[in-house]
Amino acid sequence: MSTNNETSLSYRCPLCEHHEAVLFSTYPTFQLVKCAQCAFIYQPVLEHQIEQYISEIYDAQWVQMREQYTEQTFHEHAAFNHLLIQMFYPYAAEKGRLLEIGSGTGEFLHLMNSIGWDVIGIEPSVAACEYASQTFNLPLRCDMFDPVKLAASEPIATDVQVICFWHVLEHQADPISFLQGAASLLHQDGIMLFSVPNLRSLTNQIHGLQSPLLSERDHLSHFTMEHIQMLLRKANLQSVSLFTRQEINRHVRDVSSIGQLKDKSSLSLQQLVKWQAELQSNGEGHEIVCVCKKGS
Ligand SMILES: [Zn+2]
Repeated sequence: MSTNNETSLSYRCPLCEHHEAVLFSTYPTFQLVKCAQCAFIYQPVLEHQIEQYISEIYDAQWVQMREQYTEQTFHEHAAFNHLLIQMFYPYAAEKGRLLEIGSGTGEFLHLMNSIGWDVIGIEPSVAACEYASQTFNLPLRCDMFDPVKLAASEPIATDVQVICFWHVLEHQADPISFLQGAASLLHQDGIMLFSVPNLRSLTNQIHGLQSPLLSERDHLSHFTMEHIQMLLRKANLQSVSLFTRQEINRHVRDVSSIGQLKDKSSLSLQQLVKWQAELQSNGEGHEIVCVCKKGS
């Protein structure tokens, strides 16, 4: 992926605060720019615009589309995310409070609630909240995340043992403030877990600037692992684990979309899994997963 235009633009980088960027790519309704100092790729956007995007994109049709993948969501995401908590939260056996920011249609929170966690979920999409309520009897708070407002209205949203946000940070105009706000609700010994799409993913390597990850209007930030490390330092958080993951269903889709490999049966199972493992070891998995805690 290369920059199309080197003309200097005056935008403030949400990560390093440098006031100079260059155009990275142009789409029908928005542009992505690249920070001239830290190479972070972001969409210059006003905070209130993202609320409008979310109500337009995450509507009843989106919920219906997601319903087709319920089984996959439980197997590949909810169960995996639960395992991460078991691995990295030393007091997981005792359960406790769990806050999920951006609960979507509620599968992960439903799973955690069903095994005894005291859960709270916040989700701005009205259609997704209705689905979670009807399907899992899960009362999500239908709102944008505001830590002060949340703590004032939900006593269990303070001193939280585990805070998660899966594929949420890329939708934030100010990722540092978002992380600081989430951390303000975290118990001193608690952990935060999150995932974001990986700028260096195979998906982006295959599709270049036309990748669905880059051309989604509500993806405001595009992170590498180095950018996540920088973000943690800025938000006074300490990394516990940082890795990339190439889920197998995603991998099969990625591989199938490469022209010469349309017939994925041309790759043996061993070759396919070896490739998946190589991507994960090289930091090129589809998503970056981060586990972190409060800095000392
Ligand atoms: Zn920067």
